[in-house]
This record gives sequence, structure tokens and C-alpha cells, in this order.
Amino acid sequence: MQIYNSLTRKKDEFVPNEPGKVSMYTCGPTVYHFAHIGNLRSYIMEDILEKYLRYAGYDVTRVMNITDVGHLTSDADEGEDKMLKGAKREKKTVMDIAKFYTDAFFADCAKLNIKTPDVVVPATSYIDEFIKVIEALIEKGYAYEAGGNIYFDTSKLEKYYVFNDFKEEDLAVGVREGVEGDSNKKNKTDFVLWFTKSKFDDQELKWDSPWGIGYPGWHIECSCISMKNLGESLDIHCGGIDNAFPHHTNEIAQSEAYLGHKWCNYWFHVHHLNTNSGKMSKSTGEFLTVSLLEEKGYNPLVYRFFCLQSHYRKALVFSYENLDNATVAFNKLLARIVAILKEDKGEVDSAEFDRWKAKFCEALDNDMNTSLAVTALYDVLKANASAATKIALIEDFDKVLSLNLVAQAKKLLEAENSAAEEKSNDPFVQEIEALIAERQQAKKDKNYARADEIRDGLKARGIILEDTPTGAKWKQI
Ligand code: AMP
Ligand code: ZN
Repeated sequence: MQIYNSLTRKKDEFVPNEPGKVSMYTCGPTVYHFAHIGNLRSYIMEDILEKYLRYAGYDVTRVMNITDVGHLTSDADEGEDKMLKGAKREKKTVMDIAKFYTDAFFADCAKLNIKTPDVVVPATSYIDEFIKVIEALIEKGYAYEAGGNIYFDTSKLEKYYVFNDFKEEDLAVGVREGVEGDSNKKNKTDFVLWFTKSKFDDQELKWDSPWGIGYPGWHIECSCISMKNLGESLDIHCGGIDNAFPHHTNEIAQSEAYLGHKWCNYWFHVHHLNTNSGKMSKSTGEFLTVSLLEEKGYNPLVYRFFCLQSHYRKALVFSYENLDNATVAFNKLLARIVAILKEDKGEVDSAEFDRWKAKFCEALDNDMNTSLAVTALYDVLKANASAATKIALIEDFDKVLSLNLVAQAKKLLEAENSAAEEKSNDPFVQEIEALIAERQQAKKDKNYARADEIRDGLKARGIILEDTPTGAKWKQI
């Protein structure tokens, strides 16, 4: 399996630290608001990666944090804490906000068939762990105290910009327009590990620490939650591309400084979902959530299908027109599966099954090419194979794609059957069918006068007959 690794900037062969096992860490949501469908694109593609690794036979352990403290409005340690901002907006406590939006996040994930990671850790439950690692970083000379806060000293590293050949001047961290730099920092790339003082509104949630009462920075939480649950060597770390810098860059800095060796081998970054006016965000434009799509009548799984049709390393443009097109394609796909369900089942041909499965795997082995994997699914539909083989393949691929294909097609078929049954129990329909049968018999008996009489009588009632090789069909006009 080849996977693009942001660290090496190329597709690398995936080799886990321990044969057969994969440790995977995902940056979780900041629970100050609903997740928008851009955030959820990242989680859908990470879910596909996890499910494909499991499908390929790996024993995967996936861990995710919930950011309920420390994430400031600017990723570069500036501005108000996002949680506090959410609490003020809704006139609730930070913990109430965290609980509400954590539940909302998992409810959205369930609608999109995103599996909940094996371990989910709210940052506020790991304060002792953060303090332990920060103490060790101070001890090792990688962190310093200034103005009441603890900072990571990036000048102590051999290489700080691990993902890109960024030039320092291109990344004027903390000196964005309208945002003053933090004069406590020795180097502009230094970042906060622990706050006790902030010029912004104070945190509601604070904990005692060796440096005074305060709260952790955002980056330290992911390093600690990952190391504590997945050990010193991580296989895959995931997140949206905006997290590569500074968040993941800082995670690597502090984790490797703490461990004294390389920490994570593969960095999987999902590119953004954009609208026509740019990157989707919670603060600008229409706030696109799963609930909003549902309110507008869209099936959330169509959004998942829409995401799968493009590569995770390409920006994806969302528009209702694109989602409408995906809906049409998805409904056609289901209709084709319904047609297969109606066919004679036959036997599962295992050679044929393996051949198509290999095509599906080939697509995903090539850096998670989900759109080619979907093409492999379409190829199965038109393959020269038994219905049983096709259904078995669709169900098998759906372990990864998670579109509930066969289940939804079965529901459609049931609805179709019960509508047909309802129709056949209708006295009006029964009367028409009886007249058609009588006409059929009259024709057989060469009693054409009666046959025409019936046809004309039906026509007068708005019933048009069409003689087909399988018998007369009728419609009401
Ligand atoms: P947040 O809740 O802001 O911490 O973000 C949760 C996840 O969504 C992170 O992995 C982000 O990198 C990712 N993300 C944020 N915006 C987008 C977007 N427009 N498209 C895709 N992923 C995004
Ligand atoms: Zn993170």
C-alpha cells in the first residue's frame, strides 16, 4: 500500500512499526460550534483510511482528542480561547458547550457512517499528563518560562519546518495583520505549552500547575494523548491540511524533543473543502452543517459519496449543484443495485470475486484513490457475473466505502414491492385487470367484437392499453 506522506513529500510504501498492527491518531474537533461539512470531509477521508487498513487485515487502534480547551482563535497562540468564545455566544458554561457540541459531532459522524475512534479523549481529562510532559521539556532545556507562560523553544531544534521548505519570513507567526506579536517569545516560531497569563479574556477552566494556575496550549494535547495511548512510535497521524502548520509542526517538535527520537512515520493530510468564495469556515458565509443539508432534503450519505468521488489530496469545491449531481448519480447507483437484487441470484463465483476485489484494492493501495475505487464498483455492476457475485462484491467494498448500498437498495425494493402489492389489492385495479384478462380471453376465442368493446370501454374511462410481448400493460391518463 502506497500512501502520500507529508513528511517525505512523496508516496511511500506503508510499513507499520509492528507487523499487522497500525496505530493511528486523528486531531479531533474543537467543540465550540457544530462541525461544518469541510471538517467532516477530513473525518470521512480519515475514516476511509482506517476502514481500508482494517479491510487489508491490519489490527488498527485509532485515537482522537476532543479539543475542549486551549485552541485560540488564531492557531498561533493569539486571540481568545475558542471554547470561551462559544460559551459567551450562547451564554452557557464552557463545559456545557463542550458536551453539547461533542454530542452533536458524533451524531453528525453517525449520519455519515464515520466510525467513532477506539479511544476518544477530551483534552480537559489529561491535564496531569500535559503537566508531566511540559515539566520534562523544561528539564531537557526545550521549554522556558516568560511572562508567566511556558513556551517551547524552537531554536533548540535542528529542523523546525518539517513539512515544507517554508522560509521564516513567509511564516510570520503571531505577527499577522491586526494581531500583535507575543513579546514573551524568544523566537517568533516558539509556541505556548502552558498559559497562566493572557492579555485576552481569561479562561473559565483553569488548573493548578508548577507554574501557577492556568491552562494548556492546544498543541501539547495531541502529542500527549497520542503518546499516552499509542506509545512512543506512531504509525499514522491524520488531520486537515491547515493543521500541518503550525499545529502538527509543533506536535512533532515537542514530541520528538520529549522522546529523543523520531515519533510519527506517516502524516496523512486531507485537503480542504472550499466553496466558490474560498475555504469553508465556521465564521464566514453560510454555515454548512449536516443538519442544514438534511433540512434541504439531502441524504447525508450522498455527501459522503460526493467526497469519495474526489481524491483527498485535492481541494474539493462544494456547491448545491455539485451535490444535486451527486444525488442523481447516487440514486441511479441504487436503482442499478435494485435491478441486480431482482435478478436470479446464482452462485458466488470466487475467482470473479477475487478479480474485482483486486481492482478495488489496487485503487486504494495507490494513495487511497477513492474515486477509482468507486469506478471499480461501477465496473462490478456491469460485469459479466452472477447477481450473487455482484451483491457479494458490493457488500464487501461497502465495508470501506460505508454507503449502506445494499441495505438502501433492499429498502427501495421493499417499497417497490409493497407499492405493487397495494396496487394489486386496490378494487379499481382489480376490476381493470379482470377486464384486461377477459379481453385477452376474448381475443383467444376470436371474439374480437368483445375484445374491442372492452378496450373502448376502458379508453372511455381514461385507461390506455398497450399490447406487449409479455401481455397487455395499462396506464391511466
Ligand atoms: P477544528 O474543529 O477547527 O479543530 O477542525 C477539525 C478538523 O477539520 C481539522 O482536522 C481541520 O484541519 C479540518 N478542517 C478545517 N477546515 C476544513 C475544510 N474547509 N475542509 C476540510 N477540512 C477542514
Ligand atoms: Zn491535533
